[in-house]
Amino acid sequence: MEAEVKQQEKKAVQELDSLFKPKSIAIIGASSKELSIGNVIIKNLVHFGYKGPIYPINPKEPEIRGIKAYPTIFDVPYDIDAAHVIIPSKFVPQIIEDCGKKGIKSVIINSAGFSEMGEEGVALQKAFLAKAKEYGVRIFGPNCQGIINCDPDYNAYCDFTFTFPKPGSISIVALSGGVGAFIMQSLFDLDIGMRMYASNGNACDVSIPDVVNYYGEDEGTKAIILYTEGFSNPKEFMDVAKVVAKKKPILAMKAGRTEEGAKAAASHTGSLAGVDIATELIFEKIGILAFNNEEEMCQTSMAFATQPIPKGNRVGIITNTGGPAVIATDELVSAGMVLPELSEKAKAILTATMLPEASINNPIDVVATGGGQHFRSALDVLMNEDTIDSIYINFVTAPFTDTDEVARQIVEVNKMKKKPIVCNFMTNLSMERYQVTTKIMKDGGVPCYAFPTTAAKALGALYKYHQVSTRNIGEAKVFADVKKENALAIINEAKKEGKSFLSSAQVYKLLAQYGISVADWRIANSVDDAVKAAAEIGFPVVVKADAESLVHKSDMGGVAINLKNEEDVRAVVEKMKGKFNAPDLKFFIQKFLPGGRELIAGVSAKKDLGHLIMFGIGGIYVEVLKDVVFKIAPVTEVEANEMLTKIKAAKLLEGVRGEKAIHKASVIEIIQRLSQLVCDLPMIEEMDLNPIMAFEDKAFVVDARIKI
Ligand code: ADP
Ligand code: MG
Repeated sequence: MEAEVKQQEKKAVQELDSLFKPKSIAIIGASSKELSIGNVIIKNLVHFGYKGPIYPINPKEPEIRGIKAYPTIFDVPYDIDAAHVIIPSKFVPQIIEDCGKKGIKSVIINSAGFSEMGEEGVALQKAFLAKAKEYGVRIFGPNCQGIINCDPDYNAYCDFTFTFPKPGSISIVALSGGVGAFIMQSLFDLDIGMRMYASNGNACDVSIPDVVNYYGEDEGTKAIILYTEGFSNPKEFMDVAKVVAKKKPILAMKAGRTEEGAKAAASHTGSLAGVDIATELIFEKIGILAFNNEEEMCQTSMAFATQPIPKGNRVGIITNTGGPAVIATDELVSAGMVLPELSEKAKAILTATMLPEASINNPIDVVATGGGQHFRSALDVLMNEDTIDSIYINFVTAPFTDTDEVARQIVEVNKMKKKPIVCNFMTNLSMERYQVTTKIMKDGGVPCYAFPTTAAKALGALYKYHQVSTRNIGEAKVFADVKKENALAIINEAKKEGKSFLSSAQVYKLLAQYGISVADWRIANSVDDAVKAAAEIGFPVVVKADAESLVHKSDMGGVAINLKNEEDVRAVVEKMKGKFNAPDLKFFIQKFLPGGRELIAGVSAKKDLGHLIMFGIGGIYVEVLKDVVFKIAPVTEVEANEMLTKIKAAKLLEGVRGEKAIHKASVIEIIQRLSQLVCDLPMIEEMDLNPIMAFEDKAFVVDARIKI
């Protein structure tokens, strides 16, 4: 099975070679009009030095931009690898069939007028896709920009944009051409080389996962930048990207809200999960570095393009000015990094080699009068320290030093690629002298940033990649004692009754099938029943009004706790009977479990993704506190553990001011069992276990709702 998947992936990569490494290109819809897409693409290919032949296709023109044109692709006497299609949409299905007959392997359809344009467009898209499948043609687009491959063996600029990147190691994939274009331009402005580019518009065939997989296999791609507005098939994306993300960093921009109508959701989990959270969780689960800010993402890619990944979080700082090092330290520490004390040996070397006024701690302050040899000595010391994983440099181009020499020393050490270096480079670029220094730094592959925080963020991201690529979340545990068939029967019973919410009895029976511990309970129909049930459970008890219409019971006075005896129960039930006139009113009698920490676990179904599992501080204030975290099911033990440590009030679980810590293992087990439950029962829409009462030795669910 696995070998089969590998084989398929290999085939997919080979197929996309005709797209990203085309040996020849036809431009179907080539035009002699300067300001037309069919002209600009030819111009771009030529300007970028495309290595293969270009075949403009135009029924009337003998040549376009000085290149021999052909009336149809069948008139071209050579094989054609790839084609651009820039003709009105209604002719596209026929042209795709022609491409298939001619043996063209990949087609970039730049034309618009398909699925983005209503029914007629959808039909056309279907029609050409059928032809493409029939002939084994891969379709890129439609309604898209195209691809670029800066590999000097190809120089394939199959796109109509205007940025001509220098070759490098960052590959970009962006659903939106506009975003793709500005990312490419930003990399260009930052002097970061690009490897490949793909913007696939409607993405009817070649998808984002296909491209990510292709970049993953491409040796020249060191890091990937991804922009998307959501996933048509999140599961497919996760399967592909998690493999790639282990091999090389994926920097991604999260955009596009994935869910609707959160406010209308009846459960806490539903409303808390309503915000744009799924994409973020996908990125987290598979180890993609998520950015909220496109500028930061582009800036950070500079470090990924040039630097190795650190082996840990220990950073050494070299600075020739004080303040920026303080700013940097703040940012580095908040990224989870530490500044270790230097060894005695290191300090001895620094004392011998630095200026007398230098500071030989970490940060090492070489002082503003420090020159090339001082920077070099500090760099060598940090490179040789076993307790340092990365180096952060603050370099201000002090007018009274040989800044070129400082730059040369930094570059020399940087070229060894032993540990990652980032540099906050503070200078005046309008002065010729400093332009020279800057050029030395940039040509030497030192990632230079204009602000201490930006540089620190970039280094923080390198460290983050170390973390996510070495993290192993393991496999989700499968509890063998669960009774899935019984659980299904309960759900089917509720379905038959035409209910969207399970009754209390159904809920608690269902939890029992999955071994989720609950407080002892009974359902009573009458006062006498209630008294009897309470006696069976043992006082003190809790009585809750139970009817489908009662959502937040305590809001309406439907929860009475700490009932110590028969009289208490009798009085409460009588009162509730008078208060609630729901026809299906029953009484839920439950063991009173005082003094526990109130937690919440919940579930919310997300279209095409499965379920999100939520955990946090529970009770009646859950929506006020909003101290919850989410994960995508199935949740592994490692992830369940992370959920407990990631909430803001994580310390509460440890016990504060003399309280005992809660029994975390019980809560972690409930989360894992809950995860298995919803993976087994996909018809569950929403679910709240709120609260779970957690004690020092156990945890019990005392309130639960399930929506199907
Ligand atoms: P609802 O969420 O519908 O208002 P709950 O059953 O969650 O009703 O009860 C509200 C609150 O009452 C809980 O947050 C908890 O503080 C308390 N409570 C409910 N059941 C118990 C119980 N069995 N033991 C102790 N406290 C309980
Ligand atoms: Mg509740």
